[in-house]
Amino acid sequence: MNFITQTVKELAMDANCNIGKSFIDELREALQKEKSEIGKNVIEQIIENDTIAMENKEPMCQDTGMVVVFVELGYDVHLTGDLYDAINEGIRQAYHEGFLRKSVAKHPITRGNTNDNTPGVIHVKLVPGENIKITLAPKGGGSENMSLVKMLVPSDGIEGIKKLVLHTIFYAGGKPCPPLIVGIGLGGNLEKSAQIAKEALMRDLKDVNPDPVLAKLEQELLEEINTLGVGPMGFGGSTTALAVKINAYPCHIASLPVAINLQCHASRHKERTI
Ligand code: SF4
Repeated sequence: MNFITQTVKELAMDANCNIGKSFIDELREALQKEKSEIGKNVIEQIIENDTIAMENKEPMCQDTGMVVVFVELGYDVHLTGDLYDAINEGIRQAYHEGFLRKSVAKHPITRGNTNDNTPGVIHVKLVPGENIKITLAPKGGGSENMSLVKMLVPSDGIEGIKKLVLHTIFYAGGKPCPPLIVGIGLGGNLEKSAQIAKEALMRDLKDVNPDPVLAKLEQELLEEINTLGVGPMGFGGSTTALAVKINAYPCHIASLPVAINLQCHASRHKERTI
């Protein structure tokens, strides 16, 4: 299982320090479109911060997150140990050797720190093949705190979904550290909607939703979010979000679950297939 531990360790260290050139390009594009001077200034500072972090291999944010790991496990893979232990060991080593802040409380009420950033939140899906794909995302507390799941009903429809998303982002203001990536899970049930919202945050920012209804909603929501005036880090401006990504799943005839998972500008995720 050592190769899984090693992979998780490398992905966690890389994700925290290296936002990636494509994300910087997204920020540069946003900078060209941003209407407010203070908004431009904030985006410039984020670009500078992320560039220094990449060059110096230092974390881009003091909040190094709770680690979320998506595993796609091939049916033909035979593991000889505990997958969850191997992943958590990789997290432990990365946060120790990378001097990354330990951000996990032992207990939600009594608190205390686990002191090694474990456990991660680990999702495993079985898929055809003989490979393991690991996608790892250190998720910051500020943007996660402003996320929610709401059980709407079918009659709320698209207008109800939009109202909920816009209200959530407007009242979150600067707390989730915009510019945001807005991951939305529609359908499933309470927990499924949250999981697919998180998965939506792993999508390529430039991809186009293959479902035309969702593609249109993503585009409309992005435009409407960027008229809210929240702006970069909540200081005002036209760049409140860089992208809206919606994943959907069939749901009960009585329900319209909506999960909104906000991702801050420290949009960290890395993947590798082994
Ligand atoms: S929400 Fe994101 S950018 Fe803000 S402090 Fe947390 S990790 Fe850092």
